[in-house]
Amino acid sequence: MTPVVSAQRIYKSFGSVHVLKGINLEVHEREVLCLIGPSGSGKSTLLRCINHLEKIDAGRLYVDGVLVGYKQRGDKLHELREKEVAFQRKDIGMVFQRFNLFPHMTALENVMEAPIQVRREPKAKVRQRAHELLERVGLADKAKNYPAQLSGGQQQRVAIARALAMEPKLMLFDEPTSALDPELVGDVLGVMKQLAKDGMTMVVVTHEMQFAREVADKVLFMDGGVVVEEGPPERVIGSPREERTKSFLARVL
Ligand code: ADP
Ligand code: MG
Repeated sequence: MTPVVSAQRIYKSFGSVHVLKGINLEVHEREVLCLIGPSGSGKSTLLRCINHLEKIDAGRLYVDGVLVGYKQRGDKLHELREKEVAFQRKDIGMVFQRFNLFPHMTALENVMEAPIQVRREPKAKVRQRAHELLERVGLADKAKNYPAQLSGGQQQRVAIARALAMEPKLMLFDEPTSALDPELVGDVLGVMKQLAKDGMTMVVVTHEMQFAREVADKVLFMDGGVVVEEGPPERVIGSPREERTKSFLARVL
C-alpha cells in the first residue's frame, strides 16, 4: 500500500545551518507517528517540509504517492507553481502551537471559512458540517463565540475542527499543547486521541510522552537533524537504546 507520507533522505539547511540531514520516514494510512526530540532538532522544519511550507534541498518527499512541491518530467524536477502547491496542501491539515484562528470570526465561521473559500462548497452544507465538527471537539455550545471569548484549549480545538473541515487525509500537529495552561492540555489531547481512534493518519510533534505511549504506532526520536532512534512507543520511550534518547527522556519524563 502507498504510504501517506514517505520521506527519503531529506536534507534542509538555512544558510550554513544544516537542520535536516538525511531524514527517512514513512507513515501509513491510519497510523500515528509521534516525533520527539530536543528543541532545535528540526522537528518543526520536517513538518513544514511535508506540506511544502519549506522547500527541501535534497531527497524525495511524497504525500499519498505524489511528489511534494515538484513534478517530474523525464529525470528532471520542476517546481510547482504556488497554485499547484496550494492544491496539494488542501488535503493536509495542520495545527500549530499557536492557534492562529481568525480573530474577527466566530468559532463556526472559522471552521466554515476554508471549505467555502477554497472548495467553493455550498454554505448550508458547510455550516451543517461545521456544527458537527464543533460537536466532535466538544464545543457545540461555543459556535457563536469569538476566539477572544474562548480559552486556549477551546481555541486549539476550534483549530482542529477547522483543519478537519477540509477533510484532510493527513493531519500534522506541531506541539499543539505546548502553549496551553496545564489544566487545558487534557481536553486537546483527548480530541486528538479520538481522532486517532477514528482512523486519521497523523504526524504529531509533542513532548507529551504519555500521549505518545498511548496513541502512537511509531515514535521517532530526532536530534541534530537526524533520526536517532525509531520504533513502537513502548520500545523507544520504554526502553531506549541510544544514549541521546535516554538523556532526552530523562529530561522530559
Ligand atoms: P524544533 O522544532 O525541533 O525545535 P526547528 O525545526 O524549529 O526545531 O529548528 C531547527 C533549527 O533550524 C534551529 O536551529 C532553528 O534556529 C533553525 N531554523 C528553523 N527555521 C529557520 C528559518 N526560517 N531560518 C533560519 N533558521 C531556521
Ligand atoms: Mg518546533
